[in-house]
Amino acid sequence: MRYPASFMDGQTARRHAAYLSFASKLLIIEDHQGEVLATWPSADIVPTDKVQPGQTIILSCQKKGMARLHVDADETKVWLNNIIPGLAKRTIYKKENRLAWTLSLGTVLCTVALYFLLPFAMQAGVHLVPISWERDMFKGAGLQLAHQLGAKKVCDYDKSSQILKEVTARLIGTNKAKEVQVYVVDHKMVNAFATPGQEVVLMRGLIDKAQSAEEVIGVLAHELGHVDHRHPMQAALRGASLTFLMTALSGGNVIDLAALMAETSYSRDHEREADLYALNALKREGISTKGLADFFEKLDEQNHALESVLQLVSTHPMSAERAEMISAQKGGGPALSEEDWLMLKNICSHQREI
Ligand SMILES: [Zn+2]
Repeated sequence: MRYPASFMDGQTARRHAAYLSFASKLLIIEDHQGEVLATWPSADIVPTDKVQPGQTIILSCQKKGMARLHVDADETKVWLNNIIPGLAKRTIYKKENRLAWTLSLGTVLCTVALYFLLPFAMQAGVHLVPISWERDMFKGAGLQLAHQLGAKKVCDYDKSSQILKEVTARLIGTNKAKEVQVYVVDHKMVNAFATPGQEVVLMRGLIDKAQSAEEVIGVLAHELGHVDHRHPMQAALRGASLTFLMTALSGGNVIDLAALMAETSYSRDHEREADLYALNALKREGISTKGLADFFEKLDEQNHALESVLQLVSTHPMSAERAEMISAQKGGGPALSEEDWLMLKNICSHQREI
């Protein structure tokens, strides 16, 4: 007995009328003259799609490439079910399972590769992002992040803000300073950070606890170093890629700037670059670097409590090592006149909502 079907050899589009028979665990496919078109081991036969009642079953043989067998006749379907029990369900399951495994292994490998390659890719990639685009895209990021960290108000006493603007221009150059936004926010945290979009935020705690103007201006110079090297944008690109990756993997859609920055603290190399930038800027302007060294020393004393808070926005590790390096630089004078320093300390006497 031979059962009707149609056969496509996978090499031409032609559909052959075919007749099926079964012997020695082989499905034998012949044409109407009895010439053998193909023999398929029954163990390798799989439906190409879910088998639905009343519809054509399309079968393939895993070892025979693109060749397909189309089965329409009910008698052939019943016969196939008898000679290859559970053909429909068993084979689809196996196939899907294998696909799932291949996909998840692929995803894991891609994730691992991306994780390690991202920092390098971002370092190169950041130069492809025009600064003007970065500024537009991240306008207000500094205050937004400060708000997420608990600051409700930004300090903007006119005269104090003017002093901050002038010293920023000295540190980073007049032209660049026009592009950079420096804010002081009303928050007791002794901290400062830079965000993408060329924004720097100093927290009131930093100014309150500072023993001298050089401490505050030293930290400002360090953050301007991050801005000049575009470290925050690199971190954001890296964080965004990671967040995007994680989001894609988890099926969610949460992108949060604070979480993004927290995940992507600066590398030690970035910190060194920012330190070096600060040292050069302070020296050029004849400002003592002792303030910055004092700040890092304090960080080291207060150690864990403070550093764990700092990790929120940017890791400032190895404070002792950095204090030593910076204090090795001698010379320089005050960053501000006594009068200006008092004025700057007063910056939070006027505030507005963030
Ligand atoms: Zn830093």
